[in-house]
Amino acid sequence: SRNIAQIFFSEIDSSVGFLNEIKIIVSEAVTNAIIHGYDNDNMMDVYLNLAYDDEFIYIEVIDKGVGILDIEQAKIPMFTTKPDEDRSGLGFTIIDVFSEEMSIESSLGGGCKIKIIKKIPSVA
Ligand code: ATP
Ligand code: MG
Repeated sequence: SRNIAQIFFSEIDSSVGFLNEIKIIVSEAVTNAIIHGYDNDNMMDVYLNLAYDDEFIYIEVIDKGVGILDIEQAKIPMFTTKPDEDRSGLGFTIIDVFSEEMSIESSLGGGCKIKIIKKIPSVA
């Protein structure tokens, strides 16, 4: 899935750094969906919506898993509900740093939708 996003957005004439950041963003969000949303069940479906216009790229990562009880808490750097599985609680922080806008829509039992907007760097 991280490669699908990279290939999709490689149509945009841009830098390797930009595409790498997209790869990291998608990787963090999809990993979260599988590990947390589906409690490590990698047979469940994770949905990826990708789009772009002249200025921005738009990424949505959606799962139908357990959802998040407290979204503000989940966004706090180093907050994790799986410290025993070597999680560092930095996924959302990384996504936030690499994007202009990150929003999380979720409810307990209602799955999780992460929306990310990232600016396309202008070619100098
Ligand atoms: P790391 O990403 O550093 O390996 P992490 O996944 O625990 O650690 P974040 O990605 O920042 O850290 O996520 C923070 C917390 O938000 C998770 O520990 C989990 O409780 C919750 N969370 C994140 N994504 C989901 C999801 N798709 N479904 C349910 N809970 C989630
Ligand atoms: Mg994570």
